[in-house]
Amino acid sequence: MSSYDEMDAFEGASLSARAMPTRSKDHLEWLNSPQLEAATRLDGPLLVLAGAGTGKTRCLISRIAEILDEKRARSDEILAVTFTNKAAKEMKDRVQKYPVNVSRGLQWMGTFHAICVKLLRRHAELVDLKSNFTILDSDDQLRLLKQLVQAANIDDKRWPARMLAGIIDDWKNRALTPDKVPAADAGAYNNKGVELYAQYQTRLRELNAVDFGDLLLHMVTIFQTHSDVLEQYQRWFRYILVDEYQDTNVAQYLWLRLLAGGHKNICCVGDDDQSIYGWRGAEVGNILRFEKDFPGAFVVRLEQNYRSTPHILAAASNVIRGNEDRLGKELWTDREDGEKVRLIGHWDGEEEARWIGEEIDAMQGGTRGVRPMNLDEIAILVRASHQMRAFEDRFLTIGLPYKVIGGPRFYERMEIRDAMAYFRLVVSPEDDLAFERIVNTPKRGLGDKAQQTIQVVARENGVSLVEGARLAVENGLIKGKGGKALRELIDGLARWNSMTRGPRIEVDDDSVIDDGVSPIRYGAPEHTHIELAQIVLDESGYTGHWQNDKTPEAPGRLENLKELVNQLDNFENLQGFLEHVSLVMDNEQDSDGAKVSIMTLHAAKGLEFPAVFLPGWEDGLFPSQRSMDESGLKGLEEERRLAYVGITRAEEVCTISFAANRRVFGQWQNSMPSRFIDELPEDHVEVLTPPGLYGGGQVSAGIETRAAEANVYNSPGWKRMQARQGQYGMSQPKESRNTVIDATAVASFTLGERVFHQKFGYGGVVGIEGDKVEVEFDKAGTKKVVSRFLSAKDDVPF
Ligand code: ATP
Ligand code: MG
Repeated sequence: MSSYDEMDAFEGASLSARAMPTRSKDHLEWLNSPQLEAATRLDGPLLVLAGAGTGKTRCLISRIAEILDEKRARSDEILAVTFTNKAAKEMKDRVQKYPVNVSRGLQWMGTFHAICVKLLRRHAELVDLKSNFTILDSDDQLRLLKQLVQAANIDDKRWPARMLAGIIDDWKNRALTPDKVPAADAGAYNNKGVELYAQYQTRLRELNAVDFGDLLLHMVTIFQTHSDVLEQYQRWFRYILVDEYQDTNVAQYLWLRLLAGGHKNICCVGDDDQSIYGWRGAEVGNILRFEKDFPGAFVVRLEQNYRSTPHILAAASNVIRGNEDRLGKELWTDREDGEKVRLIGHWDGEEEARWIGEEIDAMQGGTRGVRPMNLDEIAILVRASHQMRAFEDRFLTIGLPYKVIGGPRFYERMEIRDAMAYFRLVVSPEDDLAFERIVNTPKRGLGDKAQQTIQVVARENGVSLVEGARLAVENGLIKGKGGKALRELIDGLARWNSMTRGPRIEVDDDSVIDDGVSPIRYGAPEHTHIELAQIVLDESGYTGHWQNDKTPEAPGRLENLKELVNQLDNFENLQGFLEHVSLVMDNEQDSDGAKVSIMTLHAAKGLEFPAVFLPGWEDGLFPSQRSMDESGLKGLEEERRLAYVGITRAEEVCTISFAANRRVFGQWQNSMPSRFIDELPEDHVEVLTPPGLYGGGQVSAGIETRAAEANVYNSPGWKRMQARQGQYGMSQPKESRNTVIDATAVASFTLGERVFHQKFGYGGVVGIEGDKVEVEFDKAGTKKVVSRFLSAKDDVPF
């Protein structure tokens, strides 16, 4: 049925109810019947409840244009809430393309927070603030809470202030001021939570400050207690529109309900299957009770998906069907069949990144059976942000332009920069910039004054800051707690630096002449550089700093730190790693050209791309173990909704992958393919043959891949994958492989063999020790390298 046939049916049904909408206007031109209804039924509450890619956001845009075109409101009288600032900008751009009057600006189009900051500046005095209030970041917020916790004589080892911060955030998400916290929560934070919450709010007022949660909470309070102000805005915002309504929390919901309370011209669009912010207090129930809150609400359901091919849609629908707690919707599309969803297993995350890099290259060139794609048509969506590192490294190495959406790139993240600053100082204590970065991170009680003292002493004595700090402490210039902490840091740095080498070895003059290098020799260090990195992060208090942090970002930051330490396994020492990072970061040119997008599944909500890669579909990673541990079945269902969001971002090609092994702290761990893979419908999935497994493709060559084969074949994940291939009638491996080559433990090279190393080039094997191979490289001299990173010369992987 074409949308015009439907249109006739619709017109027949609702002609009597209201004037017939027409598609003669630009902004209504291509809408199907229910979409047209959503865009033109302007009076009263309206809910669009529909699955992914059915045009909900498009309806909102058309509706705004229609309001303007019909002169129902001026552009500054429309309140439109989007989920991100980026989405707000896109919406503005799209409305402005239509020939409608936006001369007063679409200034009330933005996120809840952005809109509330503007409102609160106008009415700050109603909650005892001045209009120039500051917005505290989570660090400041924590510092403040710590002071209160200390003053209340609470043991913050048992009851960390971070925990209190989390509890208060949660109350704010639920729009609970201290006097409204329910009795059931009275026991929170050792029975002191509510009292401290009240003190915290008082303290914020004294400082003329708010935290993020306050932006909404204060506005809700103002609207609840000042009916004149509320009525003013109820009149002003003639039309209210909300995208991604399924992810609103209670405070946002109350705020909306208050504002729409007058004319009730509120239009919310959402999809219960895409509610993915439960962990931040979002309540999918908000969308489900819309009709109760706004009696007489008109509900539009959209079923035609315009975004994805039938295969992609079928895959997404089948996965989400696994959730019990949902309304249940069926989507259809009249698009051409296109490619099946592609599924591929890899040896490990690095291999996965490499393969995806090659796929993207091939897609660009149009040699992948699909039309040639531009880089900006391709996205990689990951479950956890630490997964990005492998892709970023790979893409930087092969010069594939990419951008990270919704967050900094891996090596630019705060915790990674902090950790790297420690490593830099361990390797070179003269690195003053690194010292400045970490001297008071984590907090050591070294404020501006102490830091200035260090600077002055260093300058006057012509020494590095570390040395200046040592002099300052020894001469009693920095005393007390700060002085003690500083001494610990300096001692730590000296100790870690000495751990980069083993004991000094006396050598006789002959050998010095022989190898022509420094006369000072050291034995092998006691700890590997991986262990050392972990020791530095732990002993400096940096790991603990994030472990004690109870904000939602903290676990992600700890995972990023783990990933950083994992990554060291690819290098011989800290120095080599630091060089690598400065080189890859240098490779990056800020070109304006098209780039592949890398982002988390959470950040991808509402977006669409012709080609989407969904890597890391392994149980524990996705669905995330943490989410399942913390929230059980509810957590699993939220993860499944994330899977649905991920698949439905794809228009033409969707590639799901998993690795049979991931490295955690330098240790290989087998992983099972995600249970969501089992939920993909067979008829709509094509299992790809990893090049390394069947002898196809260049990448298959080399010891690395031989090991990959062995590992994959022995991982439980692979066995399931094999079983699935059987189901699909795919080819089985040509020969049975019973030998297990554990290349992580023993090198399989022979003395004298010619080899190739990605970084050092060609060389000959001169020694073998466990999994370490000593190679005399043609250009780079003699080095010991991990065997995994060597290929037999004939098998050069490029
Ligand atoms: P999500 O749930 O992912 O946010 P959505 O329901 O908001 O999706 P949109 O992003 O508005 O969907 O639309 C999906 C795609 O379909 C867009 O590219 C949009 O331009 C297109 N589209 C929507 N409606 C129509 C239509 N009637 N005719 C042609 N294309 C359409
Ligand atoms: Mg949308």
